This record gives sequence, structure tokens and C-alpha cells, in this order.
Amino acid sequence: MGPQPLEDLVTALARLPGIGRKTAQRLALYVLKSPAQEAQALAEAIRGARENIGNCTRCFNLTERGQELCHVCRDPNRDQAVICVVEEASDALALERSDLLRGTYHVLGGALSPLDGIGPADLRIDELIERVRRDAVREVILAHNASAEGEATAEYIHQRLAGQTTVTRLARGLPAGSDLDLADRTTLTHALQGRTTFQ
Ligand code: ZN
Repeated sequence: MGPQPLEDLVTALARLPGIGRKTAQRLALYVLKSPAQEAQALAEAIRGARENIGNCTRCFNLTERGQELCHVCRDPNRDQAVICVVEEASDALALERSDLLRGTYHVLGGALSPLDGIGPADLRIDELIERVRRDAVREVILAHNASAEGEATAEYIHQRLAGQTTVTRLARGLPAGSDLDLADRTTLTHALQGRTTFQ
């Protein structure tokens, strides 16, 4: 046990994913040792990100506040008739980093999980169906995570879109249970290029 402000910082850091109590303590002590302006810059970056980042009104990806559409939806060179459906914004970030997709995204905000009480109405599925209708979408690529929830979500969306557009899915090859955003570029390239019609 240390001084209360240190304990508060350790507790806050330990809430971050992948950060255990020990790591949180190391990070907190590092922050305390670093120059005051460096620690201030970190606090400012956190505050700024929270205040200045919102969701794209079309695809629900992250966008700067004040920009209704994200940089992908605003880009005239991106094919608006191809939508890659992902669970989280982090998945879209991973695919953007790999620079493989010429189309756009649709961020669901999670996956179906009856055990956790997450149903279709909790995800942006209706918004996806609406986009497909409105924008004459040619292809919907389901880029779900390789989990039971991801599979169930893909299956559900496929049923909802039956007969309205071509629905494809990423090729198998993502390690089971891992998140798409942890996959490297080669894995993503193979997954995207080898995508198959959903059936
Ligand atoms: Zn967007």
C-alpha cells in the first residue's frame, strides 16, 4: 500500500485490458518518475481522445468530433458498394493498417451473445440492412472474429440479407478464439483474398 493518489492511479490503470495489478504499478511509478510535462501530455491525450472522437453516422467507425463521416466514408476512392462488417472499431483499424480493403466498413459494436443478453437490437444490424438497401451494395464481407459469438452473428446477418446482396466471409485461417485485430498482415491478406460466398 502506498499513498492514496498512487493507489488510485494503479487501480485506474489496472482496469485497462491486458494490464494486471503488477504492470499497473510499474506504469504508475514510471509516470511518477517521468517529467511533469510528459505526465501532463498523457493526461491531456486521454482527455482529448475522449472528447474529440465520436462515431461515424454511416458506418459507426471512429471519427473526429465535428466530422459526421469517418475518413473512409469521406474518401471518394473507396468503393461504397462494398461493406466489410466488423465487430469493433479495433477490427476496422487492423484492416486499415493492412491497407487491403478498397471498400468501406460497418462496425456492429459487438457480437450476438444470448448468455450476456446481447441480441440483434443491441448491435447496429438494422443500420447495416438499411445501408445495403439504400446504397445498392454489391457485396457484404463478414469479417467476424473466430468465436462462437462471431459465427452466430455472421449467420444471423447472412439470413437477414438473403437475396439482397452477395454475402461473403473471410477465409478460415484466423486462429480459433483470437480476435481479428491481433492477426498480422499476411493472415489478413489470405483471409480477405480467399473470401468465399457465405452459405
Ligand atoms: Zn464511416
